[in-house]
Parts: sequence; C-alpha cells; structure tokens
Amino acid sequence: MTARIMDGRRLSTRIISDLKKKVGILSKKGIVPRLDIILVGEDNASKIYVSNKIRTSEQIGIKGELHKFPEKTSKEKIIREIKKLNANEKVHGILVQLPLPQHLDEQEIVDKIEPSKDVDGLTTYSIGRLTTGNANFESCTPKGIIRLIENEKIKIEGRNAVVIGRSNIVGKPISLMLLRRNATVTICHSKTKQLQEHTKNADIIIAAVGRANFLKEAMVKKGAIVIDVGMNRDGGKIAGDVDFDKVKFKASYITPVPGGVGPMTVAMLMENTLKAARAKL
Ligand code: NAP
Repeated sequence: MTARIMDGRRLSTRIISDLKKKVGILSKKGIVPRLDIILVGEDNASKIYVSNKIRTSEQIGIKGELHKFPEKTSKEKIIREIKKLNANEKVHGILVQLPLPQHLDEQEIVDKIEPSKDVDGLTTYSIGRLTTGNANFESCTPKGIIRLIENEKIKIEGRNAVVIGRSNIVGKPISLMLLRRNATVTICHSKTKQLQEHTKNADIIIAAVGRANFLKEAMVKKGAIVIDVGMNRDGGKIAGDVDFDKVKFKASYITPVPGGVGPMTVAMLMENTLKAARAKL
C-alpha cells in the first residue's frame, strides 16, 4: 500500500484564490484587511516565515505590515507597539512571530493582543474559548491540519488520535480540536513511556515533535493517517518529523514536508485575517 498524499500546497492554493475574491469584495465595501506582524531578533527561520506571510497577504489583497525589532528590544517597547496596533482601527490582525528571544515572556506579550485581532489564536483568551468549544480564532497550524483531514473526507469521530507534542501552538490546540470532533485523543510528550504502544494503536497520528524522521514505520499501524507538522532544518533541506519514505508504505494518508501542513498554516492565517476584517462590516 502507498499512502495517499495530502497535498497542502494544492489545497492552500485553492483556499487562497477563494480568499482573494472575498478580499476584493470586502475592499470594494471600503474595508481593506490589514495584518501587522511583529518580528523580534534575527532568527532565520522566522524571517522566512514572516516574509511568506507578508507575500501571501499581498497576493490576496490583504495589506501586510512588518514591524521589525532588534534582538535586545525590551518587553515594554514591544507591548507599546502592540497597544498602538490594538488602537489602530485600520489594523484587523496582529501576529507576534514566535519564538521570541529568551528574555521575553512569549505568553505575556501575546496576551497583550486585543482578542478581536488575535488572528493567530494564541492569546490565553483565544485558547480558553477553544477549550470551551467556542473558538473565535483557531490557531493556524491546527486549523490547517483539520482542514487537510476534512478535505479528504476522513472521519474523525470515534477514531483513536495520538498527538505527539504538547506545545501551545500545535500539540494542545490540535488535541482540543480533535476532541471536539469526537476523536479519542492521547497526548504524548517527552516523558511518555512506551510511545510506540500509543502510536501503534492510533488511527490518526499528529507528529509535532521537532525532530527529523522521529516517527518510524514500526511505530505506525497499517492504514493510519499520518500528519507531519515538523519543520526541521537538515543542512539546507527541510525535513519533517516522519520517516516519510518508509511510513508512506504503511499509512493510508500522509502529509509531505514541505508541501503539507506548512502552506495550510499560512492560508489559515489569511482566512482568520479576513474574518477579523469582516467583523468590521
Ligand atoms: P515544541 O514547542 O518544541 O514542542 C515539541 C514537543 O515534542 C514537546 O511537547 C516535547 O515534549 C515533545 N517531544 C520532544 N521529544 C520527544 C520525544 N522523544 N518523545 C515524545 N515527545 C517528544 O515544538 P512545536 O512548536 O510544537 O513544533 C513542533 C514541530 O512543528 C517543529 O518542527 C516546528 O518547527 C514545527 N512547526 C511547524 C509549523 C508549520 O506551520 N508547519 C508550525 C509550528 C511548528 P515536552 O513537552 O515534554 O518537552
């Protein structure tokens, strides 16, 4: 068996072209969606992600503004900038690119974003709403994963889902979203014993570990759906968390890296920004 590839690039292109039409209609009504991104420091991967987000915004007709700060910027200065953007009526979405430099408390800073502009869905408020099943903005990577699964018409209800990783940006929110769709969810992490016992039992595996080729063929049940969130830099190449070349012969569906979850994350950010702008109608 060779798994069906869940093509995030193709699906995101379709979503983006649909969003472009919707942004055009909104702009004619006098609202040009605007997304402001705060980038602190010189992390190379972050710079690439941010330039992707700005480029995609502009492709759609969303105004993308970058606010760049040096590595050693104080928390007070960044919070001042966020407050200014909160107060600016022309700004619909605000995103703080993570990770932040070590001296900055990420959650403290992200929590300064006004909830109605939290298009990345990472404030404590947004996560709280997600937890109670009443999300306004779902965080973009997990939202993109769900969209990929739904696009294939894969049933989530009643399935055993194993999420490897418990970060606030991927592991926890995707677990909540799967739970909301009536999966039986197991969350694994670095202290989990006998990880393979969990993954071998899973109908759906979400690998969000941050280690190249971490999920091996022997850890996967035949016919499982395997979603690879990992983006690991392996020299010049990007590698996922899944040993793709082997696992693809065991899984029924699999996401590639690159071209799986990554492009969906950006598309979902655009969708959330449009939603924030439409709320101004
Ligand atoms: P993270 O905050 O570093 O979290 C990694 C998680 O993996 C932690 O919960 C950690 O457990 C767990 N882990 C580490 N070693 C493990 C092991 N041996 N066994 C089981 N679990 C283990 O990472 P993240 O921000 O969630 O990102 C994960 C990956 O996804 C990274 O490669 C990142 O670049 C990528 N990513 C991609 C996108 C995208 O758009 N495609 C978006 C976000 C992230 P502990 O909690 O116990 O430490």
